[in-house]
Amino acid sequence: MSKSISIGKVLALAILFIGCKTSNKKELAVSDLEMNTLPKNEVPDQIQRYIKYQDSSMVLINATIVDGTGNPIKRNQTIIVENGWFKAIGKASEIEIPQKNTLIDLKGKTVVPGFVGMHNHLHIPRFPFVGDIASKLYLASGVTTIQTCGAASPIEELNLANQIAEGSKIGPDIVPSAPFITGEGGNPNMIIPRNEKHLRDTMQYWMKKGIKWFKVYRNTSPEDLKIIIDEAHRNNAKVRGHLCSVTFEEATKMGIDGIEHGLNSASDFRTHKETGICNGGREYMDELLIAGPEVRKLQQLMIDNEVVLTSTLSIYEASVPNRAYADDRTLETMSPYLLQTYQERRKQFDEEVRDLTREGRLKRIMQFEYQFHKMGGLLCSGVDAGRHVLPGFGDQRNYELLREAGFTTEEAVQIMTGNGAKALERSDIGTVQQGKRADFVVLDGNLEEDPTIIKKVETVFKKGVGYTPEQLLKDTKGKFGLE
Ligand SMILES: [Zn+2]
Repeated sequence: MSKSISIGKVLALAILFIGCKTSNKKELAVSDLEMNTLPKNEVPDQIQRYIKYQDSSMVLINATIVDGTGNPIKRNQTIIVENGWFKAIGKASEIEIPQKNTLIDLKGKTVVPGFVGMHNHLHIPRFPFVGDIASKLYLASGVTTIQTCGAASPIEELNLANQIAEGSKIGPDIVPSAPFITGEGGNPNMIIPRNEKHLRDTMQYWMKKGIKWFKVYRNTSPEDLKIIIDEAHRNNAKVRGHLCSVTFEEATKMGIDGIEHGLNSASDFRTHKETGICNGGREYMDELLIAGPEVRKLQQLMIDNEVVLTSTLSIYEASVPNRAYADDRTLETMSPYLLQTYQERRKQFDEEVRDLTREGRLKRIMQFEYQFHKMGGLLCSGVDAGRHVLPGFGDQRNYELLREAGFTTEEAVQIMTGNGAKALERSDIGTVQQGKRADFVVLDGNLEEDPTIIKKVETVFKKGVGYTPEQLLKDTKGKFGLE
């Protein structure tokens, strides 16, 4: 492992700068050449302190792999990582082991792909940007890529995404979002379109900055949603919705790419709902037959139109009185303000623990998602952090809840990894397979036997660099909800 040398660092930055700014072919070639002569793994001190492994060639033996494709678990595997990529995976006898390498024994551990969080904001209610701490929490929890699914602070989000990409900050790879778009009566700090030109121009502004993901919120009108989808798709961008005014069926027929949260935001089933307005009764949450023809027909329509559904079970669980308990590490990580609001909420919940209405609803949300997946739909997951559900920790909780919903170990991991990569149309990440980027998590224990092992992250590898969660988590103590 090379120690940081400040002259080298300055040189690297200077060359990076020249490399980025110039379009001159000759100069680019020179800087590429010089880059190769610099010490490898040159990283700033503030990142170096989180790194456990950064060797160009690694051999990991005795691994149990849940590979993120949904295929059966593989045991006694050897994994060869070279220059940040999976070079080979298989039985030791079947693959070529490089001469010079770092050997890591994974006996008794489980390897899963780095999580691809598809609803992983960098803000929480009342805090427009928590990216600095959230990015550490995500990475420490095994999340190596996030799509933020709506930005409250789009410029900060974009900056952080770039800083992580160029290596000056630590965190998951960030696929950033434009500001939320909603409609009349909606949240005033979101974009509320005045007319078609305002809407298209605003979208163009963010797309010119390189942002390809739009999130529409509950009050978006059907007329606006049509324009949003049209403008996005003309520019190879995507639209996802936390819907209400527009039903799942209407949005699907308009060509939306992704729908968030599932059953609890499916206004299709509200009683006395008016077209294009977010109103109506929510009796369906307790009464609707999930396995019945009405729901299956809607899900089939979504599947036929390749609409991705994003599961956010852990944040729903945070509103279920008999379940909404923060664990110790969460209590340690929350700011004093968040801790206080949690305790106040808990007091209220303590009086309601015998009311199992929301418990029943959670089960039905699970059933809706299970059925969607079984029918062939692309189900992915995200944390949608809020309340005491923290970035990363809540993603891990999602895994346990997906298992509770009836998914196998292989399926639950696939939903959190390979399916997210598919939704992002990324073929380089999401699974532990030869030729993919070495984004993976080493869990300390047998995940198949015990779903809580998902919280026992020993090392998180991103592009073949291994990070230690302890140091990252130490630096977040008491700090989430201060930014
Ligand atoms: Zn959200």
